[in-house]
Amino acid sequence: MSSIDRYAVIGQGLGHSRSPQIHGLFAQSTGQSMQYGLIDVPAAGFAAAVRDFFAGGGRGLNVTVPHKEAALALATRLTPRARRAGAVNTLAPGAATDGSALLGDNTDGAGLVRDLTVNLGYALTGTRVLLLGAGGAARGVIAPLLEGGVGELKLHNRTAARAQRLAQEFADLGAIASVGDAAGGEYELIINATSASLRGELPAVPRGACGPRTLCYDLAYAASETVFLQWARAAGAAGALMGLGMLVEQAAESFLLWRGVRPDTAPVLAALRV
Ligand code: NDP
Repeated sequence: MSSIDRYAVIGQGLGHSRSPQIHGLFAQSTGQSMQYGLIDVPAAGFAAAVRDFFAGGGRGLNVTVPHKEAALALATRLTPRARRAGAVNTLAPGAATDGSALLGDNTDGAGLVRDLTVNLGYALTGTRVLLLGAGGAARGVIAPLLEGGVGELKLHNRTAARAQRLAQEFADLGAIASVGDAAGGEYELIINATSASLRGELPAVPRGACGPRTLCYDLAYAASETVFLQWARAAGAAGALMGLGMLVEQAAESFLLWRGVRPDTAPVLAALRV
């Protein structure tokens, strides 16, 4: 077994992942000795791959599309924010030394809110927000957005029943509801939390949702602008941004959980943008 602490991101179709580079830069800047790899598995192989990784001494996993809800089921203990989200994007060993106990956390929402409010200086308080998608990423960001002061949060998803269920699940936290194809006017912020961008597809957006006061934010990140952001510009949005800042910020939260030190994110974000 290798003596260096091992971490990885686990997902399906990880060709686009920048997580190894981000955690490599965090490790360098904080003087941590660790290595970070990629584990690409379909849903059927997820549980076995996680168990093998931790049984072999692995110290932590970032969990990405499409495994966040499956990771929740595997964790034997959850942080309060992971329990609230109903999705896990970070796994760490629990108390048992044989890899059987797993702590599940969710750092996505903290990462998104930090990117919006700290990196981009966007004031969330009182805003009307439309969230597209109802998968693991959407689950992770709903509570932090409502707790971050969003005035009204509307959910729209290809499978409408999933958005309706999410709206009910988080109704105790604030003004949240699902919407159909008629959005009810322009939003100040539209967040694409679908995985459509990963396949170069445009998710359906309710009519009239995007206008000259709308900031469009795609959780997905790619070398060039996603179809959703191209659509946003064509629709006359005030701004169109990719989720690279969120990626770096959620990674920093995971790094803090694993290593007990919070890395400085600004230089890493600058390095990734070169
Ligand atoms: P999931 O597989 O859990 O959920 C996918 C969601 O996308 C579902 O709501 C699904 O709808 C919807 N969807 C998929 N394809 C389409 C389509 N063609 N049109 C409309 N809706 C579609 O994925 P995750 O929630 O884990 O990830 C979502 C995205 O967020 C990914 O692009 C991921 O890379 C990104 N992400 C980025 C992060 C960052 O740090 N920047 C962090 C976390 C995620 P349905 O319910 O109908 O199937």
